[in-house]
Amino acid sequence: METRLAECLGFCFGVRRAVDTVYEQIKTGKTIYTYGAIVNNEEVVRELSGLGVKVIESKEELEKLDRGSVIIRAHGVPEEIYRILEEKGLECIDATCPFVKRIHKIVQQAGSDGNHVVIIGNAGHPEVEGIVGWCSGGVTVLEEPEDAEKFVPPHGEKLCVVSQTTYNYNKFHYIVEIFEKKGYNSTVVNTICNATEERQRSARALAAEADVMIVIGGRHSSNTRKLYDICREECAETYFIQTLDDLHLELPKAVRLVGITAGASTPNKLIEEVQNYVRINF
Ligand code: SF4
Repeated sequence: METRLAECLGFCFGVRRAVDTVYEQIKTGKTIYTYGAIVNNEEVVRELSGLGVKVIESKEELEKLDRGSVIIRAHGVPEEIYRILEEKGLECIDATCPFVKRIHKIVQQAGSDGNHVVIIGNAGHPEVEGIVGWCSGGVTVLEEPEDAEKFVPPHGEKLCVVSQTTYNYNKFHYIVEIFEKKGYNSTVVNTICNATEERQRSARALAAEADVMIVIGGRHSSNTRKLYDICREECAETYFIQTLDDLHLELPKAVRLVGITAGASTPNKLIEEVQNYVRINF
């Protein structure tokens, strides 16, 4: 029996960079906070908490802080958070993913040039909240094509359209087409990151070949859930686990290939544990 990992799985570049930053900072012995959980994975957050890293959940909590170093996670934060950190004299360690940082710069510039910014994405997502917080002028968040149909630029303003990094490319393209049909004067910047798509594509390819698929990731991680759904479409024997403890496999002799994939917030250590377990026991 063969065990094979999906070609692309686990931490994306931005999340790995942010998590590595936290571990580097722990070594300095400083009091470390992260603004929000550094990654959407309970195991990692628990481990970091055991190493003394505290999570700040809100702006209000940050305002009560008097000392310490605050790490900004890959999703980024509104400009206001940097201002609060500076006013309070707290050290800011910025682990915002450079792809997200690029969007902040685009919308900031677009606002000062008099554009109305349109963000295609989920308004409640921290990354989108962060982008909104860098818009110096008007801004609208559109989640679905139906929202785009109803949208009218205020006072006929020129638009600058960007997307949440994890937005679906086809939907983004469709929304842009709606704007084109309506004849809106808009500059479109595709800011979708291909990390999500690569993970989904390689999970599907592996699941199509595998007899059993194991998907590892946090219970609340929406990208892991999506990977699970994709794998299920291709492979009926697909298991969603958080850690090795959740894996209760009984593999029939006929199983030839066990595929493994993992959400963007699943650390390598967990993936290796599962892979070794399957290799040794079956
Ligand atoms: Fe950066 Fe892309 Fe990962 Fe988002 S998904 S953190 S943009 S690398």
